[in-house]
Amino acid sequence: MSDCLFCKIVAGEIPAEVVAEDDRVLAFKDINPGAPVHLLVIPKRHVANSSTVEEADEALVGHVVRVGCQVASEAGLSESGFRLVLNNGRDAGEAVNHLHLHVIGGRALDWPPG
Ligand code: 5GP
Ligand code: ZN
Repeated sequence: MSDCLFCKIVAGEIPAEVVAEDDRVLAFKDINPGAPVHLLVIPKRHVANSSTVEEADEALVGHVVRVGCQVASEAGLSESGFRLVLNNGRDAGEAVNHLHLHVIGGRALDWPPG
């Protein structure tokens, strides 16, 4: 997707602070962190959002979640805990239409979210 912000990050056209990468996913720091640790994990292949995930994407999305837990652990959040978030649509505040898992932690998080 040539006009997709996160596809451009995958392509290296827009810089990002990458914390983990493999052949299928990229994890990088959120540009506007909402907590001491705020990372995003995305599939390198364009997947629009979790509402559009198809059966063929299930393993990829599972991998995104696994890498999310790994980068949370590497950020020192194993003991204190962390939150994984997938925003869908307007009311959730989804701004970028390329599936991205938020990995948030480093402080006590409100529940339910505001
Ligand atoms: P959403 O609201 O769509 O779930 O989350 C999009 C996230 O992407 C936001 O937390 C926002 O701060 C982050 N973001 C937007 N543009 C950029 C960017 O150019 N680089 C990085 N690293 N994060 C971005
Ligand atoms: Zn994309």
